[in-house]
Amino acid sequence: MIREELLKSNIDTLLLQEGCSANIERYAINDGSGVRTTVFLKGCHLRCRWCSNPETQKFYPEMNFFPDKCIACMNCVHNCPYGAIGKDLIADREKCKECYKKEDAFACTKKCYVNCRKVTGDKLTVKQIYDIVKRDVPFYEASGGGVTISGGEPLAQPEFTYALLRTLTERWINTAIETCGFAEKEGYENIVPYLDTIFMDIKQMDSAKHRAWTGQGNEKILENIKRVNDLVPVYGNNLFIRIPIIPGFNDQPDEVEATARFVAKECKNVKGMELLPYHKLGRGKYYSLGRKYELEELVSPASEKMYELNEILAGYDIPIFKF
Ligand code: SF4
Ligand code: SF4
Ligand code: SF4
Repeated sequence: MIREELLKSNIDTLLLQEGCSANIERYAINDGSGVRTTVFLKGCHLRCRWCSNPETQKFYPEMNFFPDKCIACMNCVHNCPYGAIGKDLIADREKCKECYKKEDAFACTKKCYVNCRKVTGDKLTVKQIYDIVKRDVPFYEASGGGVTISGGEPLAQPEFTYALLRTLTERWINTAIETCGFAEKEGYENIVPYLDTIFMDIKQMDSAKHRAWTGQGNEKILENIKRVNDLVPVYGNNLFIRIPIIPGFNDQPDEVEATARFVAKECKNVKGMELLPYHKLGRGKYYSLGRKYELEELVSPASEKMYELNEILAGYDIPIFKF
């Protein structure tokens, strides 16, 4: 929920709002129109087995270790006040769990001069993010780009996302969001007025299968998509539905057809759909967090398969987009 006083506050108060960001990527070209700056926020209530941004799932900062670049100087071992790192340089993640709350948080990263042990997650104010993104305004103007808020799930930090979007809109910066749809309905109602483009996911129409692969059923997501769709004529947003195509989870023609049928019937204001083939790019990040990647054996769908599934959307007269 977004506090009433924040909804009524002026820009000076919005700029002071603080959130936790995982990363800010400049010059992104696949997250909406033109050249964009993508702000990845921390926190998500889903646990998709294929998630390519596992470092954004938790709501707090975490330590990542990328052994490929390590020069074995052992500084991290000596600097950790909790004796969490063994001689093999592997950290006992149980001991690291609450490190972010401590005064000397992430001491292990402080003298890692090759930056292979580092922290993901920064507490930043809206003003600090605005100061970064505004440097790229000339690129936005030249390309029709802007700022995309992604994650994680941006609405897992509803007040921060609201404050950031309102700030950007009041400064005439084009805005987009990538949301999984699993958040409170009121959050969507509060942010839709400040969005040019909205990307929402439908991962699977079968709720039991959705729960088995993401940790949550899909009811809330489908309700939110219908609600956002209803708001589009009021605010003139560009609404796109995306399906990440995951072999064994949702890559059968009848599964894509079920989603296309739902969109064609319930979401008439959708501008188009995009099918995103599964990839393994986030695999290494699991190991850097001391986690195991569950889908080692999974293979990305072939282009013929993607073509076949896109044809299903075309059969429902749904415009197909590729960002
Ligand atoms: S995250 Fe904290 S507890 Fe874990 S190794 Fe680093 S300093 Fe030690
Ligand atoms: S401080 Fe960095 S480079 Fe040195 S041993 Fe630790 S992880 Fe490796
Ligand atoms: S919704 Fe997105 S960020 Fe959240 S777990 Fe799934 S893929 Fe990852």
